[in-house]
Amino acid sequence: MTSIEQPKEKETAFGVNEKGYYGQFGGAYIPEMLFPNVEELQQNYLDIIYRPDFQEEFHGLLKNYVGRPTPLYLANRLSEKYNTNIYLKREDLCHTGAHKVNNTIGQILLAKRLGKNKIVAETGAGQHGVATATVCALMGLECIVYMGEIDIQRQAPNVARMKMLGAEVRPATSGSKTLKDATNEAMRHWINNPVDTHYIIGSVVGPHPYPDMVARFQSVISEEMRSQLLEQTGKENPDYVIACVGGGSNAAGAFYHFLDEPEVQLIAAEAGGHGIYSGLSAATTFLGKPGVLHGSKSILMQTEDGQVVEPHSISAGLDYPGIGPLHAHLWESGRAKFFAITDDESIQAGFELTKLEGIIPAIESAHALATLQYLKAGSDETVVINLSGRGDKDLATYMKYL
Ligand SMILES: *Cc1c(COP(=O)(O)O)cnc(C)c1O
Repeated sequence: MTSIEQPKEKETAFGVNEKGYYGQFGGAYIPEMLFPNVEELQQNYLDIIYRPDFQEEFHGLLKNYVGRPTPLYLANRLSEKYNTNIYLKREDLCHTGAHKVNNTIGQILLAKRLGKNKIVAETGAGQHGVATATVCALMGLECIVYMGEIDIQRQAPNVARMKMLGAEVRPATSGSKTLKDATNEAMRHWINNPVDTHYIIGSVVGPHPYPDMVARFQSVISEEMRSQLLEQTGKENPDYVIACVGGGSNAAGAFYHFLDEPEVQLIAAEAGGHGIYSGLSAATTFLGKPGVLHGSKSILMQTEDGQVVEPHSISAGLDYPGIGPLHAHLWESGRAKFFAITDDESIQAGFELTKLEGIIPAIESAHALATLQYLKAGSDETVVINLSGRGDKDLATYMKYL
């Protein structure tokens, strides 16, 4: 393997260290049986993803297959309403309708270079499963997606998409039969197939190096934001960048190139469900405590004796009991500010964007929009909102509120 010199990174308090930690969060808490797989990734991911042939293929596909760069759009009527200058980063216009494909393209190219010809993934609502099945079809790799039996019933259209794309959808029948159980099954599958299989994780979660690797793939979002802002406003840095946080991959991508720019305020929107203290919420930073989930140390919602609490959100993508370790660090250090947005607030924000701008956002993304009412940004300030996905998949939910 010819290894090239990696791009020199600036000194940053927010990058991962060599052990895979952001502050006290991160690491690789995995069963011994997974060591070989994870170690192979840890040792190779940076070498591979910064090789010129990788960068060329990755950016070529982002451009010609995904449709990047996605527009940065000055939302005039929304700006007027909030008396500030609001730009929308249109990840909803990516192929497959959300940012998730940026990561699955990167990981499938990595898998090929590691000599893997099979892909395994887990999915909750099916969005990551679809993004994974899509790139497997593109590259002709075999794809197995584990999905909770209950989620398979709830998310029939995405199950159909995955099957049409050629993936095998395997039901996880243990425990609560949802995402957590699908993740356990996918990990077990990977342990049993370490040589020919790569596990594509869908967010900035999991053992090191996944959070860092996924953040790097998604960082194309803030890279584009900077050059587009420079072109449209004459300044690379906005006053605010806002994104919703489920596991945190779209937020990590939107924040990445602003982490060391202290004048840029980073705003994260979590799912407040029926209200933070209602018992039906996914407001991790408000309710969570440090703990280990899915292979890394982070903040997670848990009972006194450490059992994971089932989260609730109206948006499937934010219905996760933890956040990635980078976000736990951004929260603990105060670098990012977190808001908990309720189900109702997100729906109102979704209708508002639709009526003012003719854009139906994913309900996940609508959580980011709903923070506008709390920010009170000034009329001379610039706000960038990462519109992580489109709302087509959420029409049935929106209709209940019409
Ligand atoms: C999956 C998803 C999210 C949440 O995932 P992150 O890793 O937090 O980005 C947000 N928005 C959309 C549209 C999604 O599909």
